[in-house]
Amino acid sequence: MVILTNEVLIFLTRSYNMQNKPKHFATGQYTPQQKETLRASGYPAASRETFKVPDKFSYANTALEKLPCNLCDGNSFEVIATRDRNPLPVTTVICRDCGLVAINPRHRADWYRHYYREEYRNQMARFKGLSRAAVYTPEYHFNKTVPRGRALLELMQPYIKSGLTVEVGSSAGGILYAFREGLGVSVLGIEPSPEEAAFARLRGIETIESLIEDLTVEVPKAENVLSFRSLNHMLDPRGFFLFANRHLELDGRLVLEVMHFLNVAKEYQYLPRAIQIDHVFMFTPQVLRQYAQAFGFEVIYEGTDRKGGHMYLVARKVRDEATGADEQRAETYGETMAAIRDIHSSAALFFLNHRVPQYANRHLYKTKSALKRVLKALGLYTARRK
Ligand SMILES: [Zn+2]
Repeated sequence: MVILTNEVLIFLTRSYNMQNKPKHFATGQYTPQQKETLRASGYPAASRETFKVPDKFSYANTALEKLPCNLCDGNSFEVIATRDRNPLPVTTVICRDCGLVAINPRHRADWYRHYYREEYRNQMARFKGLSRAAVYTPEYHFNKTVPRGRALLELMQPYIKSGLTVEVGSSAGGILYAFREGLGVSVLGIEPSPEEAAFARLRGIETIESLIEDLTVEVPKAENVLSFRSLNHMLDPRGFFLFANRHLELDGRLVLEVMHFLNVAKEYQYLPRAIQIDHVFMFTPQVLRQYAQAFGFEVIYEGTDRKGGHMYLVARKVRDEATGADEQRAETYGETMAAIRDIHSSAALFFLNHRVPQYANRHLYKTKSALKRVLKALGLYTARRK
């Protein structure tokens, strides 16, 4: 009997994942002058057309920073994982005081800026098994998020107010488009990606191109502040909650959609599956509630999507002051740790249950095409006519 030990499977998982790692090479055409120089220095003609150079993007070249807890300012952490889903070496900790899960130490803000510009979309494409990031156009995002925005609105409409609606991390404007269409309210997006902000404006969604940390434009007070699937990416959630408190009228609504950290880890029975380098902070319903309460909000609705991978929260602003975390801390840490201990986190099982089928699906099409070519060559295949 062949016994596949955990170690062997971890090794196989890593070897497999190596193929999905950044190539670290860029190719291109030489300029006529460069070709001339190469010809003069005796380069073979075939090598004078295109070049291949190491890509500048690297995950490992910068210093990391260690920060106090973003929610409670505490400094006592427990390491819960040392790899993310890709599997990059990422240290994930839980705060012993309030239960917030975060990557810590982490890359600095300038590294993340570089990462979002150069690598983020490519990494997402590789993770999803797409051969290139080119599918992630602003139009793709817009077309994908309009129906999602409509569904979210249907779910949350009773808790949402009529009036100016501001979205932080508004991408190509799809969510705001659906909100404007459904509620007839005026909308304003804040989005750092120039291409996505420009596309949103083309669709009539007024959008400020900026990170909220760098805002130089005055944002008027709103009745709703939305953030859908953006909070995980923010380097300072505290700053976002302060922004929401400052820019909402009293009784205004904060509307969030965030990845449900524990549900994703539970579904895959593999903790690193719920961790990704671009999700600097990871949330449980308890911690998200604590954030809202600490920054002047009262939670009025909580829910999850059908699969439970994302959670929703609507909270109303009840006071102007935003004091920080309240006292109920240790309990949340204990609950979250108990849930984490219940997750098997076997790299072997994750590999067999999720990576193998994913790999198979990805290559099914290629295999079919190759088979067709062989059959055609042998004269055994004729295209079916409609
Ligand atoms: Zn904390």
